Amino acid sequence: MTPDPTPGLPTPPPTGTSALPPDTYAGTTVLVTGGGTGLGKAVAAEFARLGADLVVASRKEEHLKAAEEELSGLGGRVLAVPCDIRDPDRITGLFDRAEAAFGLPHVLVNNAAANFPVPAEDMSPNAWRTVVDITLNGTYYMAREFARRHLAARTPGSIVNVGASYAWTGGPGYAHSAAAKAGVKNLVETLAVEWGPYGIQVNGLVPGLMPHEDMTADIRANLDRVRAADVRQPALRVGQPRELGWAATFLASPYARFISGHTLVVDGANWQRRDLVTPEVVPIREQLGRGPFTP
Ligand code: NAP
Repeated sequence: MTPDPTPGLPTPPPTGTSALPPDTYAGTTVLVTGGGTGLGKAVAAEFARLGADLVVASRKEEHLKAAEEELSGLGGRVLAVPCDIRDPDRITGLFDRAEAAFGLPHVLVNNAAANFPVPAEDMSPNAWRTVVDITLNGTYYMAREFARRHLAARTPGSIVNVGASYAWTGGPGYAHSAAAKAGVKNLVETLAVEWGPYGIQVNGLVPGLMPHEDMTADIRANLDRVRAADVRQPALRVGQPRELGWAATFLASPYARFISGHTLVVDGANWQRRDLVTPEVVPIREQLGRGPFTP
């Protein structure tokens, strides 16, 4: 038998293709937090290609501008609204603006999060609070506002919360983010049951390692320290942001209406990787290139 010339999981179809009918999201509004950068932008792009109007929300002007420039022209209209998801009042204002422009969003993608690697003993209480506040509290505030409006209007909706696989495994070097993502995953399960009777579907979506141009310097530096990321994945390759986008558009589509309370992992099985021979433990301080702990 001829050996496979391209071992590992095959590369996905090119950008611009989709498994769903082209008008799947025509007449639909999709709100994506953090949709002006990285994976959020890739997810928003896939909804737009399928005809959705987009509302993109985040704090920074340059990210909102990037969303408007890069997502307009893919399909539907794009409204970029400045909003810090830690503030429930600003979230109310965001939904008011979205409703006034395109009507109540049918789909909410809770993608915004904050993260940076740091040994737990070096983490300041403020750093802990900030990450939990954005990643967990912000996700809940957004979901709450979305659900309250749909309950009042008696209309169905779909929520996709973007998570991370260390919600299950713990995340050495990311204690704040891992704990917050565990909360986000748990919230998916609770809210799906609470809001299912009102027609609101709630799912989680977990990306694997999906490098992109907007990664923060901290995370990029951490990645750069690990050479040859591809061979460290069971797939023998990293993920492409569009692969997350395709999964999100399926989860929120009419074809996935009976899927709720589920968290879908798109990581080529990387989070399930175990080795026969346990590798040596390298302390997190060493992995992050930090010297000995100084109080
Ligand atoms: P990213 O580029 O750092 O994006 C984070 C986004 O969140 C930014 O657009 C940021 O916009 C927004 N944001 C941060 N704080 C906010 C706040 N307080 N209010 C509103 N928006 C806020 O991250 P990414 O790599 O694309 O990751 C996207 C999602 O995937 C995150 O949930 C992340 O945890 C998850 N994830 C990513 C990977 C990966 O390999 N990239 C792996 C696992 C999980 P502003 O700065 O403009 O506010």
